[in-house]
Amino acid sequence: MGEPTIFKKIIDREIPATIVYEDDFCLAFEDINPQAPVHLIVIPKKEVASLDALEDADEALAGRLLLAIRKIAAQQGLGDGYRIVSNCGKAAGQEVMHLHFHLLAGRPLTWPPG
Ligand code: AMP
Repeated sequence: MGEPTIFKKIIDREIPATIVYEDDFCLAFEDINPQAPVHLIVIPKKEVASLDALEDADEALAGRLLLAIRKIAAQQGLGDGYRIVSNCGKAAGQEVMHLHFHLLAGRPLTWPPG
């Protein structure tokens, strides 16, 4: 293993974050550079580099992540809608190599994204 990612350090409470949700599999916290009034990062506690690095054995983890997102959206009162983004790989703009979902809401979100 190389140097732990910034998200691993948040999981391990080595650096602070505003955590809004936690269960056995997942953690969600506020993005430090928000792109919308609501901008959360949802991550698995397991160290997985990206969506592309998921394996068949991660089926339960993948499902738990999506269900956690749904629960977080409900807790945050995002009944009007929200967007989930997972940048996968450098060409997609992934900067932190720990699988994560951006949860964005609170302003009109246009399509296509940049
Ligand atoms: P990505 O470009 O998809 O890898 O997104 C990484 C996201 O992590 C960016 O939106 C950053 O603003 C966010 N980020 C980086 N460091 C932190 C941190 N310490 N706490 C919260 N969010 C962070």
